Amino acid sequence: MKMKVTCIPGDGIGPEIVTEAKKVLKKVSMVFGHEIEFTDVLMGGCSIDAVGVPLTDETIEICRAADAVLMGSIGGNTSTSPWYKLDPSLRPEAGLLKLRKSLNLFANLRPAYLYPELKDACPLKEATGEKGFDMLIMRELTGGLYFGERNTKEVDGELVATDTLVYRESEIRRIAIRAFDVARKRRKSVISVDKANVLDSSRLWRKVVEEVAQDYPDVKLEHMLVDNCAMQLVKDPSQFDVVLTENMFGDILSDEASMITGSIGMLSSASLNDTSFGLYEPSHGSAPDIAGMNIANPIATILSAAMMLRYTFNLDKEADSIENAVKKVLEDGFRTVDIMPKGQEDRFTKTSCTEMGDLIAERITNC
Ligand code: NAD
Repeated sequence: MKMKVTCIPGDGIGPEIVTEAKKVLKKVSMVFGHEIEFTDVLMGGCSIDAVGVPLTDETIEICRAADAVLMGSIGGNTSTSPWYKLDPSLRPEAGLLKLRKSLNLFANLRPAYLYPELKDACPLKEATGEKGFDMLIMRELTGGLYFGERNTKEVDGELVATDTLVYRESEIRRIAIRAFDVARKRRKSVISVDKANVLDSSRLWRKVVEEVAQDYPDVKLEHMLVDNCAMQLVKDPSQFDVVLTENMFGDILSDEASMITGSIGMLSSASLNDTSFGLYEPSHGSAPDIAGMNIANPIATILSAAMMLRYTFNLDKEADSIENAVKKVLEDGFRTVDIMPKGQEDRFTKTSCTEMGDLIAERITNC
């Protein structure tokens, strides 16, 4: 297969971690007989420095012309970087929001997986860590409360603020279809999270999700109220496979889910539209505090590259080969500093960003 990938290394540790993900993708292409072509573009602070804006129309077009976009991370130190003295519409993050909108990326997928080798990083009870968990949060990304009309005005001598939460059937249907499709590639279970005991938008959400479920008799559907879901995530995260939810609930629950893995440097993400196109990036930021030191953990970006192979190119075996290589490297005792257990440094091999990329690439096989 020929794969055309636009890369956005971005700022901070972005260029370091994207280099390692490319290294692994090149190895996968070699081992499995594919061709991969990368085009690098600027976005975020580096684009502001080069051309005065965080994202140009030309960059959007280069992204659109590719099969997928692989991103590092954008942004700098929000207290000290001159980028944050600019108008909000010209700051690094404005580039990412504009790109997501321009490419109609409405489905956000965030897996949260507890590696057995990293179970001590899980802040939950020991028994929960022992049991492990492997879930994927499917969050609607372009509708709901964050995109509804809002205003603040004076009524009867006091300020009144209003935010509106709107969902159309079509918006719910397309994200639900995505969730059921993804569940078919996993353990065939969807838990749809809403607040149907209170909100009309949630009652519509539930109705449409049930209609979509009719087309997926092989996938089990359950509904859960969002407050209960927040509790269940810390009580027994192993019960979740695909968690389907709307924008604001997904924002909060996906951060909760990543927190219980205890290792931000390991978490990948994908944002998809209704074609096979996707934007793949780690869940963490640009870590300006460690940029240029060759100590960043590239695994979240490498796992995002695996998601790209699975969801854009439908190359499951190739995606598995990356995920297995990551497991193997952890089993073999290699750790970047962020995942090195405190007080147990003598049991593990401290590994730099580039070494971690090399070690994972070395372990890519097609069997
Ligand atoms: P951050 O995720 O960049 O860093 C939080 C902490 O985790 C830091 O101590 C950092 O060193 C560490 N860390 C993060 N990723 C790591 C990795 N791969 N390996 C080792 N350690 C890692 O969050 P922040 O400091 O709040 O934000 C820094 C910048 O990143 C800000 O400008 C923010 O706006 C931006 N940001 C960008 C994105 C994105 O591009 N999608 C997402 C979140 C934050």
